[in-house]
Amino acid sequence: MKRLLEWQIATVKAIRPETPDVKTLTLALPDWTAHRPGQHYDVRLTAADGYSAQRSYSVASEPERTGEIDLTVERLADGEVSRFLDDAVAVRGPIGGYFVWDGSIGGPLLLVAGGSGVVPLMAMLRHRAAAGINDPARLLYSARTYEQIIYRDELEALARKDGLTVSYALTRSQPPGWKGYTRRIDDAMLREVSGPLGPDALAYICGPTALVEVAADGLERVGLPAEHIRTERFGPTGP
Ligand SMILES: Cc1cc2nc3c(=O)[nH]c(=O)nc-3n(C[C@H](O)[C@H](O)[C@H](O)COP(=O)(O)OP(=O)(O)OC[C@H]3O[C@@H](n4cnc5c(N)ncnc54)[C@H](O)[C@@H]3O)c2cc1C
Repeated sequence: MKRLLEWQIATVKAIRPETPDVKTLTLALPDWTAHRPGQHYDVRLTAADGYSAQRSYSVASEPERTGEIDLTVERLADGEVSRFLDDAVAVRGPIGGYFVWDGSIGGPLLLVAGGSGVVPLMAMLRHRAAAGINDPARLLYSARTYEQIIYRDELEALARKDGLTVSYALTRSQPPGWKGYTRRIDDAMLREVSGPLGPDALAYICGPTALVEVAADGLERVGLPAEHIRTERFGPTGP
């Protein structure tokens, strides 16, 4: 059996800015394995003096793209790892078996994201499009400002094509004429977004810890069974 958790050296093939603080790295992997959307890789950086630091980053791309993966990284001002990811890096993965969705699971899909928490959910949506899955899907995405929405153009294009609805909650500022939500995620918002999918929907929530907790508790309160809700926490702060 193939061993998935060995470190390998990935080459950065391309770097694409997504927002002022977020970039996508395309990594070529000498030992590529198809991931399940929602899985992540561990990334390890080692300094010249031998000090090394390791963090997890979700795969942003769909498994239909072979030989390479996209990681989308938000640069934290004082971040030990996120500021320095632009060279060859050691990675291992794909990792994770719980926060995953693919065509074999199917059914109505409810995705709730805060900030860079949209990354693993984007892998699910890209896979959904690449595999031609038409079950209804809804994304509720909370960001501070319009400029900080990651994948904005691609999400618009995906939402035009098939049964995907995208709703945004902009918590800090909104552009003139904004028609989306202008507050943090709450129960009323979750009821509006999840209602059309019915109680069979499977929900995936990802982002800062505080947002994940509000959204998971809220979805239960508005009627989604707890066993239909999967969560992944990225880090400490809120939007
Ligand atoms: C399963 C999993 C998947 C992840 N996927 C992604 C991803 O796709 N893209 C991505 O950008 N990040 C992702 N993360 C978060 C990532 O692993 C790091 O925690 C993040 O990049 C910060 O690392 P750093 O070394 O730059 O900062 P550190 O040096 O660890 O921390 C610097 C400062 O930022 C704060 N901080 C740490 N993490 C976060 C965070 N997530 N949000 C806000 N503040 C934080 C710390 O408290 C500290 O004050 C994921 C985390 C997990 C557990």
